Amino acid sequence: MFIKDLVKTVVSVFLPFRCHVCKNTTQFGVVLCESCLQKLQAIIGPPQITSDTRCDFAVYTLSSYSTFVSDIVKIIKYRPSEKLLRILAGVCKKNSQLESFLKKDAVLIPVPMHSDRLQKRGFNQADLLAEEFSRHCGSHYSPLLQRLRHTRPQADCNEEERLTNLDNAFSLAPGFSPDAFRGKRLVLIDDVATTGTTLRKCADRLLSLRPAEVCAIVVSHSYKKTGLSCRGDYGQ
Ligand SMILES: [Zn+2]
Repeated sequence: MFIKDLVKTVVSVFLPFRCHVCKNTTQFGVVLCESCLQKLQAIIGPPQITSDTRCDFAVYTLSSYSTFVSDIVKIIKYRPSEKLLRILAGVCKKNSQLESFLKKDAVLIPVPMHSDRLQKRGFNQADLLAEEFSRHCGSHYSPLLQRLRHTRPQADCNEEERLTNLDNAFSLAPGFSPDAFRGKRLVLIDDVATTGTTLRKCADRLLSLRPAEVCAIVVSHSYKKTGLSCRGDYGQ
């Protein structure tokens, strides 16, 4: 233990750890400084419905339009940093309304990532969030969808390209019985929504299972703030 601490001290002198967000020096191994953590905790809140996606089902966000959260999501993705993702998931889980929103009957379905990208990044942020939320809230976790082909990030496409970029990109993953999801409440999980095209394409696949409901939860959305907040009327 002593040697481990000594190594940490020596390394931190020559290679100081920095907060991934504000770049201030932190303790060894700390990827988000206390100040940024507090800021994140103040922004992440209860699920709020957003009507500014092109989805014809309910999309809830855990943060109103916030460049700070959007930046964290980007850092997680492009750095990439699973450690920062786990901190973000932990902050989301601390919200008691998330638990009452998901209840135990929800089936959490992560937006899938193509295997090439998964291999490159090492984790799928939607998958990790869905797993963490389900463990915390007692909901079911089902990686029910798969991404059939590699697609360009929606953020890199123009308005027109976004509409077709994801055509035939998703299917039901093998190994699941479609009947098991009939009449269930299916909740898509993703880190971010922009126009909602990805969520809509995923929902199209899920609707073939004849669920009672399909909705989505994202941590952040990059459209304007709606100000609409759900107060116990979740799933309506
Ligand atoms: Zn910081």
